[in-house]
Amino acid sequence: MIVQELNALQQRCGFLPDEELRALSRRIDVPLHRLHEVASFFPHYRLKKGPEVEVRVCRDVSCHLRGAEQLRDGVKALANEIDPTGKVVEVEGVSCLGQCDHAPAVTVNDRVDHGLSEQDLRSRVHEAVSREPPRHRRADRGPLGWKIDPYDGNPRDEAVRKLVETRDPRTGSLSGGIDDLLEQLKISTLRGMGGARFPTHLKWAAVRAQASDVKYVVCNGDESEPGTFKDRELLRRAPHLLVEGMVLAGLTGGATKGYIYIRHEYHEEIEAVEDAIREATARGACGTDILGSGLSFPVEVFVSPGGYICGEESALLEAMEDRRAEPRNKPPFPTVAGLFNKPTIINNVETLMWTPSIYLKGGEWYRDQGINACKGLWFCSISGDVRAPGVYEVPFGVTVRDLIYRRAGGMSRGQRLRAVAPSGPSGGLFPPLIRRDLLPEAFAKAHLPDAGAFFDLLDLPLDPDIVRGMGGMLGAAFVAVGEHADLVGLALNLSEFFRNESCGKCVPCRVGSQKLVEMIRALRAGQFDREHLELARSLGNTMILTSICGLGQVAPNPLLTLAKYFPEEIEALLDRRGGPPAREFSMFETIV
Ligand code: SF4
Repeated sequence: MIVQELNALQQRCGFLPDEELRALSRRIDVPLHRLHEVASFFPHYRLKKGPEVEVRVCRDVSCHLRGAEQLRDGVKALANEIDPTGKVVEVEGVSCLGQCDHAPAVTVNDRVDHGLSEQDLRSRVHEAVSREPPRHRRADRGPLGWKIDPYDGNPRDEAVRKLVETRDPRTGSLSGGIDDLLEQLKISTLRGMGGARFPTHLKWAAVRAQASDVKYVVCNGDESEPGTFKDRELLRRAPHLLVEGMVLAGLTGGATKGYIYIRHEYHEEIEAVEDAIREATARGACGTDILGSGLSFPVEVFVSPGGYICGEESALLEAMEDRRAEPRNKPPFPTVAGLFNKPTIINNVETLMWTPSIYLKGGEWYRDQGINACKGLWFCSISGDVRAPGVYEVPFGVTVRDLIYRRAGGMSRGQRLRAVAPSGPSGGLFPPLIRRDLLPEAFAKAHLPDAGAFFDLLDLPLDPDIVRGMGGMLGAAFVAVGEHADLVGLALNLSEFFRNESCGKCVPCRVGSQKLVEMIRALRAGQFDREHLELARSLGNTMILTSICGLGQVAPNPLLTLAKYFPEEIEALLDRRGGPPAREFSMFETIV
């Protein structure tokens, strides 16, 4: 309730005025300190009145590669020309807006725009200062012929119908249908597409097995990893599949309510999903008495107050429960004690959206579409230095070569491939050729001839298990980096993202992520020596071992992979002569 109230207040006033917070505290009978506890955590909320025009320029990887910093500096100069006090126009950086295929992305007074030249953005700023109505480019909602959508954009609720028609008229039980649905999900090998890769059928069955009068299904649509924007397209182009997948999950788990948690910057996607819920309810496929079965499962949208950490499932639950989005210690897992301490199925958007077609067409249909001995299909967001960045529905096992050079049209501006980030900032950077001795032995044996000295990354089949076997991670954010990129600068950018988004709950991540940024800055400034490099490795390993959640555990990857796979980049800076003396890194500086 607090989050929704603060969202509404912020929308009405543009910030959270103190007197309004006090009035809200009285009206909803919640202590003022609780409102501040929430309001001070999330980046969406503003506690002070801002300038007339707020410009935010994305500072993360894909926009960084497409000149976001120059764009930001150019518009900052304009803001200064308009009013040097900064009261009229304020220009700042912002974390990934999920528009990486149209980088650089910006917001002007919270309205997301993308792919603008500096001249375009200057015009937008002048229009906003003159209070002209903002221009709005609506994104296409049409279907793209994806295999995930058995209805090609015309929802028919066949999967929900198939399930409720298995209802035993005598007992009212759906057991037979649910057993079949779970079996098809098992055969399909569908796993969580948000990164955790937990088998979907096991998660749903675990909640089904819990004895509780109240259970939930939560869809994690808080897509915020830089370079990831596939859920954005799925939410907007096929929201009916998400609603149907939610209902299948709800009926399977015996859940009483479903929430679709979507990042607040996805205005059009929120609208599309709300429309889909309304339409499904009108058709009788969601809400009360689903298709005349007497079974009910209402679904609603929960708009996120922002922050990358909300993509971590337990942090997301904390936000939904009106607390600071700090990850919980596990166990217990959400299947046992999730939202409001009740058994909860939490799945990513794409995971839920695959379930209707798998149930209708059978688990083998999905499983057998993988290639190169891999199983299933997935959606990949590719961005960076490629000609056709975008979202592609591809088989697991598609090679890096196929993804970059066929689907995404090859490298932009005739560049050669210099590096790949197969999981956005989280997985770090990999070179096009990897020396055999840098590969795990089992991977080298399986993928290289006996005399092979290098593994050609273009031959890598993209499958989470194979990429993990290589020593990497595969997410939905695939970023290709061209030869003109400054890789140390890129590692700094990736590390800054984690520093900016650390929730601060645990010391290794809160302090360590800041120290990593300082170290890479010192490296670039020629203030780094070999001992510091060892210290950086040691700090990284400590963070991996001791951070509470995935953010702190992956935060060292940009620097560690740079040091491992691109040692020449670091050596060139270590060997710099004539710079200032090497500096010391004190953990104490940051703590105080
Ligand atoms: S690892 Fe980082 S993001 Fe995760 S709980 Fe600790 S401080 Fe928060």
